[in-house]
This record gives sequence, structure tokens and C-alpha cells, in this order.
Amino acid sequence: MKAIEFLERHYPDTLKVLEDKFPEFVKTARRIKVIPWREEFQVADKNQEVIDEIEFWETLAKGGLISEEEAGRRINALLKEKGYSSKTMGIAFIEAGEVSFRNEVPPLSVLLHEIGHVHFKEPDPVWSSTYGGGETLFWLALKKDYPIGEEEIRRFHSLFKKAQNGEHLEVAKEIVEKVAPLWGEQIVPAFYPVCLAAGWIPHYVYEVASGELDPFDLTNPEWKKVLPHRNDVVMFFVNLTEGLKFSEPFWVEYARRLGILG
Ligand SMILES: [Zn+2]
Repeated sequence: MKAIEFLERHYPDTLKVLEDKFPEFVKTARRIKVIPWREEFQVADKNQEVIDEIEFWETLAKGGLISEEEAGRRINALLKEKGYSSKTMGIAFIEAGEVSFRNEVPPLSVLLHEIGHVHFKEPDPVWSSTYGGGETLFWLALKKDYPIGEEEIRRFHSLFKKAQNGEHLEVAKEIVEKVAPLWGEQIVPAFYPVCLAAGWIPHYVYEVASGELDPFDLTNPEWKKVLPHRNDVVMFFVNLTEGLKFSEPFWVEYARRLGILG
């Protein structure tokens, strides 16, 4: 059977909303094959394995044992090699275009999560709402009527993934270019003031810069000399999705300027 049948039979109201907001997603659901559940899908929690390995490379990089670039390369290779991801309730085989579910009728969230893997072709660190991924935006579009469609989610994925994979300086630069003008003279155009202005204190500012740089003085030109840390740039996007969840006006405007809200 095809994944679309679950939507047609059990979640027709959601299917209507999807057809309106994510027609391409529905098209993908029509071609995704549902294969029988196998015990090993839940025993070997492949997603956890991937997450553990990513953490492993990140720990090495943090400890200075390998460079951030090296860690980014390893993580990239890993994600490419394991072109699938799973949650205990379901699993998606991204390249094969197949999904499988433990329950006879998967809960809606599980069904959309797995279809989403195949549709957007992203593993959990980029897609899953557990890690602040695009899935959160997808649900905001469905539930809160935010102007978010396919294009906005792909745009978010691309920035989020670049930040995770070691291109965080480039991403931070784009954030500053697009978002800092909102504040005019109130901040110097630099990554950390952009974060602080929205009321978020990134790890680096909290742990390292306090004492050296006043987190309330956002016009200090010294901020421009501080290189954004990768985790902070990644967390910027996690905070952004959280901010959208609670309709926080600054984050909503940041998202709009970054092309994550239509
Ligand atoms: Zn997943």
C-alpha cells in the first residue's frame, strides 16, 4: 500500500489542509510505499546511532582533538552514508522512498514525520522537531496558519544544515546582513548582538564573553571581532523555531527576513 492511504482513510481533514498548503508533500505520499514492520527496525534504533556518532565527532572537535572542519566532513559523510532515519514508532528509508510503521494505523505525527523524511530527504538532525528541525515549522503551518510552505521549509533546512555542517560563519554572515538592519543604530551589525537583541543569550556570550563584553551593550564595535561559534549558530535556528511557536515578534520578523516565513 501507499502512505497516502493512511491519510485518506484515517486523517481526511489533515489531508485537506496538506493539499492546500503542501501539495508536493501529498504527491510524495502518493508514491511512498509502506513496507511491513520488522522487529529489527525498533531494536536497532538507527537514528540514535547516527545521533551518537554525530555527538562523538562534536566532542572530539570541542576537545580540540580534531578540527571543526574535520568533524563537519565526518558528519556529512555519515549522513550521506546513512540515508535513513528512524523513530521507534516508524522508520523511513529516504533513498528507497519507503516507510514502515509499528502500529497498524500510525499516529498522525508519526505518519507525517516519516513521510517528511522521504519528501524533504533530510535525516533527523535537520528534519526532526526533537532537534529543532523543519518539522516544527511544518506543524506551525498546519496548526497556527503561519505563511510557511515547501519553499520556506527547504530554506530553513538549508541554513540549519549549513550551520550544523561547519559552514556556520557563512550562515551567521547572512543572518547579520538580513536581520541586523531591523535594529538600525541600536546594535552593531554582528551575530551576537542580533541574538541578544531578541532576548536570547547564546552559550558563548554566557560562558566566555561575560566580563569582557557587556551583553547589554550592543553598540560596542568589539562584537564585530567575535567569531560566532558553530553551536550558537545552530542554536539560533532552534531558538527561532521556538520563538515562532510562541509568536515572539522579534523571532517572527527574523524568520520573515531570512525567508523562513512567506
Ligand atoms: Zn526521524
